[in-house]
Amino acid sequence: MHTAGDVRVEDRDDPKIIEPTDAVVKLTATCICGSDLWPYRGIEPADHTLMGHEYVGVVEEVGSAVKTVKPGDFVVGSFVISDNTCEICRAGFQSKCVHAEFVHAGIGTQAEKARIPLADGTLVATPGQPDPELIPALLAASDVLGTGWYAAVAAEAGPGKTVAVVGDGAVGLMAVLAAEQLGAERIIAMSRHPERQKLARYYGATDIVEERGEEGVAKIKELTNGLGAHSVIEAVGTQESFMQAVGATRGGGHLGYVGVNYDVTVPGIELFFAGIHTLGGPAPVRRFLPELIQLIWDRRIDPGKVFDLTLPLEQAPEGYKAMDERRATKVLLTL
Ligand SMILES: [Zn+2]
Repeated sequence: MHTAGDVRVEDRDDPKIIEPTDAVVKLTATCICGSDLWPYRGIEPADHTLMGHEYVGVVEEVGSAVKTVKPGDFVVGSFVISDNTCEICRAGFQSKCVHAEFVHAGIGTQAEKARIPLADGTLVATPGQPDPELIPALLAASDVLGTGWYAAVAAEAGPGKTVAVVGDGAVGLMAVLAAEQLGAERIIAMSRHPERQKLARYYGATDIVEERGEEGVAKIKELTNGLGAHSVIEAVGTQESFMQAVGATRGGGHLGYVGVNYDVTVPGIELFFAGIHTLGGPAPVRRFLPELIQLIWDRRIDPGKVFDLTLPLEQAPEGYKAMDERRATKVLLTL
């Protein structure tokens, strides 16, 4: 991304092994993330920035210290590099690893190949070579599925719980899928888009709420005997959506927030009187990858449906435009 709004596909040198813990992956597919729109819209700086942090592909070469993946393996990687051995990783927060590094900051997987540092701690090999129809689902695991799953776990979605999901983008839809898999009794998707409502229902939503802001909160309370939802997932990151999520959470309930929330200010006193648990941040996707890969491999979940536009990598600029103009929820780039 040369500058905001200016995405170009250009030739770069092939990545090479630098550290013994590196792997070079020949990418099979990659995609454009909602968070890539932040620099695209000028909210984050962009200056000849390498883009992309979601990826699946075949390992081409590994450094001498890499033990868990080998050339020829098909791998799914997290959007945060992690060693998966430090104290923070072992506690399940690989996105906060002491060696954490964001893939979008300096690696860039909207590319034909990528050098992935700390390959053992970042990549997970699939049980074999996947059928082509599994590729979108495995790619979703790299970020949006892992993030939606983390949000549902952070919100303690589970049996007997009513879960409200604020946001009907790819992550919100994946959070609905996760809540359903985790056994939630009732899943309320907050959405105004007929197509996304349909997908939310496909993934397990039992109710749809179209109202937003205070009206949205009132509607959630109405559906939950005035109490609010046990578990609320915030997957947007705006002031309105965040406060809607806080307001929709019942006293003692859990809020999982994964929308990147640049300009959100949470009034301390509202959080104080809400009396809720909160957990969010960049998802430790690596924690969930082995389980998610297996669910996809066994065809028990089908997260690949979140991609509603597929383009060749050369047309990445059009993919950004389509997402920016909301003509697409999520764009898959083929290689
Ligand atoms: Zn670590």
